[in-house]
Amino acid sequence: MAPILVLGTHNIKKRREIEEILGDLGLTLQDLSLYPNAPDVVEDGDTFEANARKKATETAKAVGHWTLGEDSGLVVPALGGRPGVYSARYAGKQGDDAANNQKLLAELAPFPPEKREAYYVCTAALADPAGQIHAVVEGRCYGRIVSDYRGGGGFGYDPLFLVPEYHQTFGELSSRVKHALSHRGRALLQLRPALRMLFG
Ligand code: IMP
Repeated sequence: MAPILVLGTHNIKKRREIEEILGDLGLTLQDLSLYPNAPDVVEDGDTFEANARKKATETAKAVGHWTLGEDSGLVVPALGGRPGVYSARYAGKQGDDAANNQKLLAELAPFPPEKREAYYVCTAALADPAGQIHAVVEGRCYGRIVSDYRGGGGFGYDPLFLVPEYHQTFGELSSRVKHALSHRGRALLQLRPALRMLFG
């Protein structure tokens, strides 16, 4: 059987993207639905890296397999870096994308287009079955927050995140293009050599 890598996230859309990005490596990518006793890791770190490490370590110890912990979010400098590590629960309820987007639009309403710059960050940490971290990588993707929803692809803030070079949001671009440009695609690209070495 192909080596197992557990994806330590309960976010189905994020998990699907990781599967699309790493799917060709010949690993058995398992999600947490196979491990009902895996802990719901509390994301109380001040940084994406702290949360990614924590997800990887705590999940790996619980499931006893190599595990990828991923933490990501949107940073808007005009808002002092918000929503940042609180991206998933910006409007209060965990994972309420519609409410998060509405809050972001309301907060950015006074800002002209040139002040609406933003970037996504993705930090991924790889832990061995004992929970020890072997690699940490980060990817970023720079863009701008538009003032109306565009496209139904992706998830989270994607319909509002414009990629200037393409004049389209991540909601409009195909998943193939998104993965080539995105914070997640860029982070996981750096992890591929380590995964090949460990499992190749
Ligand atoms: P996490 O599960 O704590 O890492 O939270 C990630 C949150 O950041 C998501 O719920 C989204 O709000 C946001 N986010 C991260 N990556 C993306 C992306 O690729 N597209 C849109 N939103 C994202």
